[in-house]
Amino acid sequence: MMIEKKDIRAISKEALRDFFVANGDKAFRGNQVYEWLWSKGAHSFDDMTNVSKETRAMLEAHFVINHVKVDTMQRSADGTVKNSVRLHDGLVVESVLIPTNTRTTACVSSQVGCSLNCNFCATARLKRMRNLEPGEIYDQVLAIDSESRLYHNRPLSNIVFMGMGEPLMNYNNVIKAIDRITSDEGLGMSPKRITVSTSGIPKMIMKMADDGVKFKLAVSLHSAIENVRNQIMPFSTNFPLTELRESLEYWYQKTKSKVTYEYVVWGGINDTKEAVDALVKFCKYVPCKVNIIEYNPIDDGMFQQASDAAIDLYIKELTKHNIVAKVRKSRGKDIDAACGQLANKES
Ligand code: SAH
Repeated sequence: MMIEKKDIRAISKEALRDFFVANGDKAFRGNQVYEWLWSKGAHSFDDMTNVSKETRAMLEAHFVINHVKVDTMQRSADGTVKNSVRLHDGLVVESVLIPTNTRTTACVSSQVGCSLNCNFCATARLKRMRNLEPGEIYDQVLAIDSESRLYHNRPLSNIVFMGMGEPLMNYNNVIKAIDRITSDEGLGMSPKRITVSTSGIPKMIMKMADDGVKFKLAVSLHSAIENVRNQIMPFSTNFPLTELRESLEYWYQKTKSKVTYEYVVWGGINDTKEAVDALVKFCKYVPCKVNIIEYNPIDDGMFQQASDAAIDLYIKELTKHNIVAKVRKSRGKDIDAACGQLANKES
């Protein structure tokens, strides 16, 4: 019988140290290998040049390195880059590099597909196949970091978990990936430069607050009126706005970190004064800012970008109430890399 080899990057540094001790070597060897795996991004045991041949063979006999491979890379006219990332089992996720004058942001996926059912999102049409492993999330970041260095002569500066999937439905692995990204043994990036975006799962928002996480939180709100939100994001019937609100109050109380609300304005759905007033009211509960995201059509007649006048009304009312609100223009639309467009069209 073939024994299935374990993914070496699924084990902790301590476990790796223990493995070497159990096999008659020094614990220190675990640190060396760990560094190869995470800081240096080794794809094979043979890359580990300061580790003896015998040790490499021993590692080979016990483990695999489930590295991802960037299958195709598309570059948009505006400098946005979209990677199709093939996983060891053949499944594909997408991640995006978004350059501006001052920063380079990686938008990464947390799941293959998504189990939520937001009607306006292309990823929702793929069923959820599986959660990504911490290493698979980390690799997406590493790939974008090297593209940023290559095309923009600077390292990656920010990360948003706004690719495929719902990060809070793969919480443990997302946290492990962020731990690596922020650790000196990984990329040493500040957690303040990382934003996790959720469609709003109150229980998990409270858990994050309890865990004392240091990254930023964004919530895809899209409507502060219960029945409207339930229609466009059907799963939200299980998570009423009052519960969401309470979880965010708890989050702020514990972390003192402002919440960002993501909000798309659609004609005939949330472009009324009533919708604007509801958002203004919702924004009063917790210190926050609002990002009005441009709608990226996904071939569904039900959703149309609202008029400029409707968007202006949002900005005017929010600003009047001292709520910071910005309109976010889409990037990378020509290569289907914009918010809600990630759907593995190429694969
Ligand atoms: N599941 C997480 C992260 C993925 S979606 C979440 O819901 O936050 C990232 C952002 O893109 C969310 O704010 C989502 O609501 C938004 N989005 C989804 N489809 C979109 C579309 N077609 N146009 C514009 N934004 C979209």
